Amino acid sequence: MSQTAEIGVSGLATMGRNLARNLARHGHTVALHNRTAKRTRDLAENFADEGTFVPAESAEEFVRSLERPRRIILMVPAGKATDAVIDEFTPLLEQGDVIIDAGNAHFADTRRREKALSDMGLNFVGMGVSGGEEGALNGPSIMPGGPAEAYESLGPLLEDISAKVDGQPCCTHIGADGAGHFVKMVHNGIEYADMQLIAEAYDLLRQGLGMDPAAIAETFTGWNQGRLDSYLIEITSEVLAHADAETGKPFVDVVADEAEQKGTGRWTVQAALDLGVPVTGIAEATFARSLSGNRTLRDAARSLPGVSGARLEGAAAEGFADDIEQALYASKIVAYAQGFNEIQAGAEEYGWTIDLGRVASIWRGGCIIRAKFLEEITAAYEREPKLTTLLTDSSFVEAIGGAQDSWRRVVASAAQLGIPTPGFSSALAYYDGIRAERLPAALVQGQRDFFGAHTYRRTDRDGTFHTAWATDDRAESEA
Ligand code: NAP
Repeated sequence: MSQTAEIGVSGLATMGRNLARNLARHGHTVALHNRTAKRTRDLAENFADEGTFVPAESAEEFVRSLERPRRIILMVPAGKATDAVIDEFTPLLEQGDVIIDAGNAHFADTRRREKALSDMGLNFVGMGVSGGEEGALNGPSIMPGGPAEAYESLGPLLEDISAKVDGQPCCTHIGADGAGHFVKMVHNGIEYADMQLIAEAYDLLRQGLGMDPAAIAETFTGWNQGRLDSYLIEITSEVLAHADAETGKPFVDVVADEAEQKGTGRWTVQAALDLGVPVTGIAEATFARSLSGNRTLRDAARSLPGVSGARLEGAAAEGFADDIEQALYASKIVAYAQGFNEIQAGAEEYGWTIDLGRVASIWRGGCIIRAKFLEEITAAYEREPKLTTLLTDSSFVEAIGGAQDSWRRVVASAAQLGIPTPGFSSALAYYDGIRAERLPAALVQGQRDFFGAHTYRRTDRDGTFHTAWATDDRAESEA
């Protein structure tokens, strides 16, 4: 077989198939490979009119069909399957060839694989792809990591098939080794937080104001015309407006209220814990899914005393929907600020140079968290690339300043009505925490020193101190 294909895709389930079709539709000749050859044949036959495919039955045939340096995109499940496919290809490749893992790998695995392949003279690119099957076909947001020289040859091709916003591709080289998968992981974590906040807004409108799903759908449609304009708000309106075909009931009322997860939210929180970055919005969203799915716990707790069925009436209800919009926007800013801080900390820890403004900019299209609001984040990092937190950027200071009273009213009302709002409440607690002049952490330090002689620092002089708590005079000594 002659070397005719510019790029190859191995793993042709939903995502791989659509990515291969996207490449072909953009005029690139695409080699195809899949463990089960039937998928390869089906794709080449059913979509032959979309471009040029070079189907291969074996890994050897697939590799032979590729131009050099060879570029192979893997779209298989993260973990063992990815290692198995890499092990199958590496003996067939030559110096300078590039393997691109476009699955949802953990960034630590990507770092390990990048090191192993670079020792063999191969380039390994861990690439985050967001946008689900629709994005893969019509333009995803693409977050490639790996060596800069691999991006030089690969970048134009990826930018070609990515989503575009204002003519700009939603794809950029994120940084070395695992940076792309790290950023994709945090993207997914932020997605969890955003979805949870929207779900809490729905719950408050439903339980707190007694609105029905169709009316709430209209409220979200209205919000989608303003600063909350985003894919997630848009699909929320559609889901809420949908009626179940069989029963005619609102769709949301016939779906089991147990949220599932594939693990990227959990990874984001685990990495944040290791880095010491508080991502309370993502953590609360991940735990809220776990809580919802813990049927045993919920059944055991169902009869616990509390407020239920209460709602705001009359004057108290007036303007509450607008308050919720404000609380949602403010909490969303906090969740994103925390996510960007995690990326910043990851970059520092692992030695990546990541342009945070560019990251926000490539999330404006193609991906699940695409939103108008991301333009504000790009602008903030353009104003100050080393911003400690997005919350101190002037545009967000103004937005939160305006939202603040509403935000506090919503959190207080939710507590009084017995409506759980872990996302809204923790976002406000974080906001109040970081801006506090003094935190009760001083007392925690005292407790730690008392039971464990863990020492403390003082506000009035340098040094590390310990108090002899067990003695009568409780004398302080420098540790
Ligand atoms: P998938 O169900 O994760 O994977 C199925 C594909 O992997 C099939 O082509 C299968 O081949 C192949 N495969 C599985 N185990 C293999 C092994 N041990 N050796 C060789 N090939 C193996 O497919 P997907 O939903 O299209 O997702 C692909 C990747 O993209 C995953 O890492 C996923 O996390 C990521 N991703 C998915 C989405 C999404 O919205 N679905 C979004 C972004 C990223 P056979 O046909 O032979 O079974």
